This record gives sequence, C-alpha cells and structure tokens, in this order.
Amino acid sequence: FARLRRRLSSSNNVLARALADLLSVDRIDADTWDDFEATLIASDLGVGPTTELTDALRKELSVDGVADPETARRVLRSELLRLVDPTLDRSLNLDSEEGKPAVVMVVGVNGTGKTTTVGKLARVLVADGRSVLLGAADTFRAAAAEQLITWGERVGVSTVRGPEGGDPASVAFEAVASGAENGIDVVIVDTAGRLHTKTGLMDELGKVKRVIEKKAAVNEVLLVLDATTGQNGMMQARVFSQVVNVTGIVLTKLDGSAKGGIVVAVQRELGVPVKLIGLGEGVDDLAPFDPEGFVAGILG
Ligand code: GDP
Repeated sequence: FARLRRRLSSSNNVLARALADLLSVDRIDADTWDDFEATLIASDLGVGPTTELTDALRKELSVDGVADPETARRVLRSELLRLVDPTLDRSLNLDSEEGKPAVVMVVGVNGTGKTTTVGKLARVLVADGRSVLLGAADTFRAAAAEQLITWGERVGVSTVRGPEGGDPASVAFEAVASGAENGIDVVIVDTAGRLHTKTGLMDELGKVKRVIEKKAAVNEVLLVLDATTGQNGMMQARVFSQVVNVTGIVLTKLDGSAKGGIVVAVQRELGVPVKLIGLGEGVDDLAPFDPEGFVAGILG
C-alpha cells in the first residue's frame, strides 16, 4: 500500500501542486482562486467538479483572506472524497449461473492498455483461486492475439483465439462455451478498438456482447482508458458507453500521469465507478481503486 501511495502522490502532482499553492499564500485574493481553478482544470478534473471544489473552499477559507492549513486540509479532504465518491460499489461482479463462467469484457481504444489489463486481471483472479480463460476477440490484428497468448502464458492461463480476420463475436462465443465446458470460473474477453478508422468496429462490440449472451451473462464490461490522454479519454468514454453498457472503468498509466483529476471527470461523465487502476507495465501493476488512498495520495 505504501508503494501505491507513493506512486499516487507523484502521479497526481498537478492536483497536489494546486493544493500546496493554495496553502502557501499569505493572503488569499481573487488571483489565488483563479490560479487554483486553472490548475484544477489542468489536472483534468473537469469544469463542474472544479467549480464545486473551489466554491466549497472559498466558502470556508476566505472569510478573512487567510488560509488556515488545518481547515483547508479538512475541507479539501472531505470535498475531494465526496467528488471521488467512496460510496460507489467498485468490486467486480463475478457471480455466475451454475455451470457457466462469469464473463468480463474488456473494451477500449488500441494502445490504452487493454491487453495488458486483461493479463494483469487474470493474474489477480488466479491468485484469488479462480480458474481463468482468455478470449482473443481482437481478430483484426494478428499481433493482438499473440500478445494476449503471451500474457496468458505469463500468468498461467489458456487463450482461445480464432483465425486472423475471423469473426470476433464467434471467438468470444467459443471462449465462453469452452469456459462452460471446462468448468472455468471467469472468461476474460479482449476486444478490438480502432475507434476512428472503422465505425463498424464499434457496432461490432455490441454484437460481440449479444453473441456472448447467447451462452452466458456478461458480468462486467470494463472500459480501459489511458490516464495520460485527458480529454481524449473522455471522448472515448462517451463513444464506448453509447455502444456497450460499461460497468466499470480501468484507468491505466496513472504511474505516468500528472493528472489524477480524470478519475473524477470520467466517473461523472459515465456514471460508473473507476474500479481498477494500472500503475505500470508489470504483471502485478494493477490495483483496486481505493478512494481514501487516492485522496490521501493527493494531499500527501
Ligand atoms: P492495447 O492496444 O489497448 O491492448 O494496449 P496494450 O495492452 O498493448 O498496452 C499498450 C502499451 O501501454 C504497452 O506498452 C503497455 O506496456 C503499456 N501499459 C499498459 N498499461 C500500463 C500502465 O498502467 N502503466 C504504464 N506505464 N504502461 C502501461
């Protein structure tokens, strides 16, 4: 947890700096608040949450123009926590009908860290004592299936793949069917995501889900977003949520992002929680998102 905390505090340094700046001035004036807001916006927090946070602080702090560090910290902590919303259920739903696997679909634009996330998630589930099977439903790129198979081998789970250029939905179906036959607990389906080049691909995702559902319920649709892409990630979130019913967000590359505000922004946008975070390229660099730890990381 200490390691996670260290990474979080460095990964959220834009927010951390805004807060530190606010606390460091002798007297708070209009410029202080302008700077504060500009920094929050730059952290990808979004306009609405930025205004809410600033208003809450302004109400408590600037009565006599002097920031009392204790009060500032208390207000910031509670307001940030409220924005991140600790009441959301962030657990993965892996309940399934007798004789059927739980199904987790992982979706997102190529390059965001989908395949890596599938591998890391398989690792977590295996460590938790579950049997896992992967489905390589990105049949558009041969390299994608190869990469998934490599991840599978790394964490000791098998992968179902189809022919290159084959039907992604049928690969997904076969993975789930094979999971059912072999008493597998969880099937994780990796999908294709070339967002702009082929609009048909987005419809394809809906089809993959419908075809899987002929065999077993889809428990989770996890949308993978790259934390370093800011507003671009928000746009992706919107498009995907129109095609499939996203149940959770995986925010990758938080280790390389200075903009932790995206957590708040994307939850607001989609109305679904950030469930997992990626903190590196290694097999153990996936963690459940912990609101308290996140806020503590920001406030240092
Ligand atoms: P996909 O195309 O969406 O399947 O993306 P990949 O899983 O191939 O990942 C793209 C690149 O991002 C790879 O170089 C990964 O190692 C890297 N990556 C994935 N997740 C993380 C993360 O949480 N942190 C960092 N630093 N890199 C990551």
